[in-house]
Amino acid sequence: DNPIQRKPDWIRVRAPNHPIYHETKALMRENRLTTVCEEAACPNIGECWSQRHATMMIMGEICTRACSFCNVTTGMPNRLDNDEPRRVAEAVAKLGLRHVVITSVDRDDLEDGGARHFAEVISSVRNASPGTTIEILTPDFLRKDGALEIVVAARPDVFNHNIETVPRLYPTIRPGARYYQSVRLLDGVKKLDPSIFTKSGLMLGLGEEKPEVGQVMDDFRVADVDFLTLGQYLQPTVKHASVKNFITPEEFDGYAATARAKGFLQVSASPLTRSSYHADSDFAELRDA
Ligand code: SF4
Ligand code: SF4
Repeated sequence: DNPIQRKPDWIRVRAPNHPIYHETKALMRENRLTTVCEEAACPNIGECWSQRHATMMIMGEICTRACSFCNVTTGMPNRLDNDEPRRVAEAVAKLGLRHVVITSVDRDDLEDGGARHFAEVISSVRNASPGTTIEILTPDFLRKDGALEIVVAARPDVFNHNIETVPRLYPTIRPGARYYQSVRLLDGVKKLDPSIFTKSGLMLGLGEEKPEVGQVMDDFRVADVDFLTLGQYLQPTVKHASVKNFITPEEFDGYAATARAKGFLQVSASPLTRSSYHADSDFAELRDA
């Protein structure tokens, strides 16, 4: 077990008690939806849910991977629920979102990695809420030929796939994944449909060195990735990878300046940045610009 380090002063979150927070929670329960906000024990849940900003997690609560930073349960997943696309679309419509982020567990057990299900969710949300922009945060579809094409054909507005950490740390932090497969996935989205914005992010504080983060940024630029998110890794339980260091807000500013200089369209870097944090307002800013 890895004892959990005390958090520094700059990581302060308010306890969720806003009335809208409870409304959001009730709606998720009513529509039997899982959220990554809860499954990942995200520190921003009070703030996000008080603004009806919840990230839904499709295809069940059990993941076929076992990333050492992630709080989602590993195991043999549930059967796909054919009614889920409808329920997600209904929740998005009720929340009245301008921008929605939808993610999933990894489904190595399915022949297409869940690509068709993702496409159906996108179409259902599009039909029910034509004015809502759709951001998906997908698995890497490792060894799932044709999966990416299916998801891209459903035309999400933003295709997000997190690289999570630097390549050197993959064997311990993201053991089931391959760094270059993830970079290639993002590159593939742009090649298939250049009108889709691509996005990726890393958690810092896992033992990465600054030049390694710079190298990942360069790999992203080669793959034409548009948006970058950088946040502090927080250890969910003693069973998970430990925090090696807390990056100061000033260091995050330094990373952000480097990323902007490298030409990303949008950069979000702060201790509490998560890939879906402020995704709605960030995208609205870009859309309205
Ligand atoms: Fe949910 Fe993302 Fe907000 Fe965290 S940052 S509470 S995962 S929407
Ligand atoms: Fe968690 Fe995603 Fe890794 Fe599954 S693939 S363990 S959901 S980070």
